Amino acid sequence: MNGLRPDPVLTVSEWADAHRRLSSKASAEPGPWRTNRTPYLKEPMDCLSTNSGIQRVVMMFAAQTGKTESGSNWLGYVIAHAPGPMLLVQPTVEMAKRLSKQRLESLISETPCLNDKIAPSRSRDSGNTMLAKEFPGGMMLLTGANSATGLRSTPCRYIFMDEVDAFPADVDGEGDPVSLAEKRATTFARRKILLTSTPTVKDFSRIEAEYLRSDQRRFYVPCPKCGVKEWLKWAQLKWENNDPNTAQYECEHCGERFSDIHKPMMLREGEWRATAPFDGKTAGFQLSGLYSPLGWLSWADMVDDFLRAKSDAPMLKSFVNTRLAETWEEDYASKVDAAGLIDKCEHYEPGIIPADAWALTVGVDVQGGGGSIGDRLAISVWAWGREEEGWLVHHQEIFGDPCRADVWKQLDELLLREWPHANGGGFRPDAVCVDSGGHATAEVYQYARERGRQNVIAIKGQSQRGKAPIGKAAKVDINSKGQQLKRGALVYPVGGDTIKTTLFARLKHNEALHFHMGTPAEYFEQLTAEKQALKYVKGFPVREWVKKPGARNEALDCLVYAYAGLNWLYQRYDRRTIWDQLERRLESKPKAKAVLKSSKPFVSNW
Ligand SMILES: [Zn+2]
Repeated sequence: MNGLRPDPVLTVSEWADAHRRLSSKASAEPGPWRTNRTPYLKEPMDCLSTNSGIQRVVMMFAAQTGKTESGSNWLGYVIAHAPGPMLLVQPTVEMAKRLSKQRLESLISETPCLNDKIAPSRSRDSGNTMLAKEFPGGMMLLTGANSATGLRSTPCRYIFMDEVDAFPADVDGEGDPVSLAEKRATTFARRKILLTSTPTVKDFSRIEAEYLRSDQRRFYVPCPKCGVKEWLKWAQLKWENNDPNTAQYECEHCGERFSDIHKPMMLREGEWRATAPFDGKTAGFQLSGLYSPLGWLSWADMVDDFLRAKSDAPMLKSFVNTRLAETWEEDYASKVDAAGLIDKCEHYEPGIIPADAWALTVGVDVQGGGGSIGDRLAISVWAWGREEEGWLVHHQEIFGDPCRADVWKQLDELLLREWPHANGGGFRPDAVCVDSGGHATAEVYQYARERGRQNVIAIKGQSQRGKAPIGKAAKVDINSKGQQLKRGALVYPVGGDTIKTTLFARLKHNEALHFHMGTPAEYFEQLTAEKQALKYVKGFPVREWVKKPGARNEALDCLVYAYAGLNWLYQRYDRRTIWDQLERRLESKPKAKAVLKSSKPFVSNW
């Protein structure tokens, strides 16, 4: 600017049109930036201009819509035109370094009016390092949302938080990284905060929560047939015979269909309209891939993506998040019900390990203790095969006070024997996981200690999210009643939340768990007795498994423990070859064709 005062009314889009160049390295369309290529980016960018009263801009955008470039334009505008301290937050410090190396360096080097403002990072005293760029009148600091120290840096007038859905919920125990970063700007009356992301899971998505708190702008484009303006919705895209090339959009108003050759006109004539009240400072924008300019992502491309993804949950989630810029609903549990599972019961004989199963694990839930009503052990025997395909082999209860020895003697008789295999032969349980969380803790410890050689282990459920299915054993010296244990006990922590989420996703999507026809309805009532409920912890939504009021859930606990037992085997075998090893174990045994008669007395007492 050479001493001239900067034009106070220059907007980010005007600056970009005048100065920004896209490099051939970082862009599919190198050359000068043209805002009219992606007209929907003009308004969000211009809300970041100094002459706009907007303080916070929220962009929930699909991939390949130019979201990242609009952020780069703002960076260039700040450096060249509206200098001030700026904080740039990526999900991690590593990603911040990558952004600095790949995007920022090329933004600066390829934009003439920027490269004379920032000295090359080679020179030692340039004030220019990978995570800090000094320029006349300002400074740009880069950090990761995983670094509380980085977020607590000096006051910043501008804050750009990119891919906020990948930010951790809590950083170093200091709380939400977004509010931590935003505190840096509170002293600036004319602050600007930009939050961008593709969304993730419903109720957990940060960008969706921010968008829902904003004035929720949608981009309205005219129908080429009737001229009525409407925002584009995936449900209106139609195609014939699974052929993406037949993709056409059906107007909600006139019902006519049209192809995406009309996109340039529609984008040019489009306009953002708020669909919720404006709070005076936050502008929110949502945009799906349906708006992506011709040559970037066509409607046919989107249909093609959808057809490839539709039968695979992770791929479909990715399509919904990155192409539609919508959140994904993950509440499998509410979609798995007892009646649906009963309908899927199969013909196989209970009490016998099925032909394709090579491991046997048992989950034992301990109820009551000390003479309370309902004293019992609930036991599920599960057989497992490759890809963790599971079969319920047996389920029953042993009634009696688990503080008394005779109950455990009955468990011995039921479990600690060879279970017949459908191909002949058989084997003893590979893992028996007994719940030590109830009132009979001391008895469980003792039972596990005395039968360690028969693969009996004491476990304790953990309700926190994100725990491993089974963790490292911990030595306990004092039981839950505060009594000193003579020889101590080994207790394995079990990630109940993780296991339930894994198994219900399977039950919902690929039916990898099998139940035999003789399984009573009550079993399935118990198996589906818990739902994921949304709770708020420190203001953040978390899903938690909660029991339906008054329901019994032992069958679910038994399955969770049996699955933990399968995971315990992964600690003892080489995970890559475990199934070969387990299968060979049966081959090396003499093939007794006759099925063990002893299976008879153990038919379910349900
Ligand atoms: Zn129309």
